[in-house]
Amino acid sequence: PAETMEELVSLCKRRGFIFPGSDIYGGLQGTYDYGPLGVELKNNLKAAWWRANVYERDDIEGLDASILTHRLVLFYSGHEATFSDPLVDNRISKKRYRLDHLLKEQKPSVLQALSQAMGLHQEESLAALVSRLLAEPEKAALAMSTAQVIDPADGAPGDWTPPRPFNMMFKTQIGPVADEDSYGYLRPETAQGIFINFKNVLDATSRRLPFGIAQIGKAFRNEITPRNFIFRVREFEQMEIEYFVKPGTDEEWHQRWLETRLAWWEAQGIPREQIRVLDVPKEDLSHYSKRTFDLMYNFPTLGFEEIEGIANRSDYDLGSHTKGQAELKIQARVLENHHSTAKLAVQDPETKEWFVPFVIEPSAGVDRAVLAVLSQAYTKEKLENGEERIVLKLKPHLAPIKVAVIPLAKNKEEITSYARRLKADLQALGFGRVLYEDTGNIGKAYRRHDEVGTPFCVTVDYDTIGKSQDGSTTLQDTVTVRDRDTMQQERVAVKELPQYLLERLKS
Ligand code: ATP
Repeated sequence: PAETMEELVSLCKRRGFIFPGSDIYGGLQGTYDYGPLGVELKNNLKAAWWRANVYERDDIEGLDASILTHRLVLFYSGHEATFSDPLVDNRISKKRYRLDHLLKEQKPSVLQALSQAMGLHQEESLAALVSRLLAEPEKAALAMSTAQVIDPADGAPGDWTPPRPFNMMFKTQIGPVADEDSYGYLRPETAQGIFINFKNVLDATSRRLPFGIAQIGKAFRNEITPRNFIFRVREFEQMEIEYFVKPGTDEEWHQRWLETRLAWWEAQGIPREQIRVLDVPKEDLSHYSKRTFDLMYNFPTLGFEEIEGIANRSDYDLGSHTKGQAELKIQARVLENHHSTAKLAVQDPETKEWFVPFVIEPSAGVDRAVLAVLSQAYTKEKLENGEERIVLKLKPHLAPIKVAVIPLAKNKEEITSYARRLKADLQALGFGRVLYEDTGNIGKAYRRHDEVGTPFCVTVDYDTIGKSQDGSTTLQDTVTVRDRDTMQQERVAVKELPQYLLERLKS
């Protein structure tokens, strides 16, 4: 794995995986653009998730809901009221921080003094301290100054404003008339699009419990402090499943999904020992959650941080968005809904009673997955000749380029046209991108393809076209295949190449 975030960032820029957003105008904080190789890696990762969850199971349907979202969706979901992070400013440095992030950077003695000043026991969690500070903002400002809370930017004690909640949703005007009601939101999670389509999907597919709906798409959060490369950004993608189950079976399904998801990460090259499962403490749970497991990957520089949350959302969401709440014995605490036109419930086949399903939600970030996969694959090797090589040991199904076809002589028409034909034939096999590579010498090409994780380089030379130096034609229609990980080279007959590659590109 990579040792530092910097070496990853540098590789990503150098080889065209990821660039800072709006770079030529000074950048737009919290946005990144995926370059030629980044888009391939990201697409491959999303395809692997879709394949595992939609195609290889028979209990999950796909969906692609709109990003622009009616404000009532996010009112009844609870996001208008509670989807906020605590914010605090330092009046001296003019720096702005997320309160919990700021507190994480403080020495234990500072936190102790702060807890004491707020009337808390010192062994209370950080979350408890944050909510106490938010509950009494004036007192909090004073306490933060007397406890000498440090500004991480300059290491000096700050003059802190009272902390306040900051809603992270991007509000946007919809339509040409800017009146009071003409706004909506960019969705802060893809999940809500699934809940509000529950009845549509049910009616269209005649599904019975348990079943799920899967969606991959963009989500937007106005993060107070986007940071750590693509780990925390304002525009990102999520891969979410809402898996609907009968109340009472939810805890068992929650455990099953935990195992299923860990196995999926392993298949993407992330071994279990690199993931810590956090059983999120009660006081840290989101407003909708009964229980949540966070999967924390051991990132370089950052340490263990969340890549996926697997939440038991109870009957909160369907219960919030359904009409006729009163008859449905909803267990979660939901807002009274006066607007919904759909009954988001199912009928028990035996008792004929209507009830609201519980939901288990595995929710993974695509960008964090890209970062984790890149980080895990990044390998520095000392070679026998004393040189060092960087190689991305990506699982073949994730590699941006599967095979590079390299003509050994760039100005020998017979060789280049043979290589181009071979490229087209391999491309037609459908396992992903095959690149015709004729830049630089062969050594440089190998090194570049090691660095971007191309599993195989195929070289077309004089032997291939039947023009060996010794005049023999025994190697005609054979090519050299070089393996990324072992660097071994093998001579393979061109007519056996498709089978050879197909077998080895399965991961
Ligand atoms: P965090 O605590 O890190 O802000 P979260 O718990 O708010 O994350 P969820 O609401 O559970 O995140 O979202 C599910 C997944 O979406 C996360 O596990 C993460 O992979 C991804 N995600 C959330 N916020 C961001 C972000 N700002 N940038 C990139 N990915 C994100």
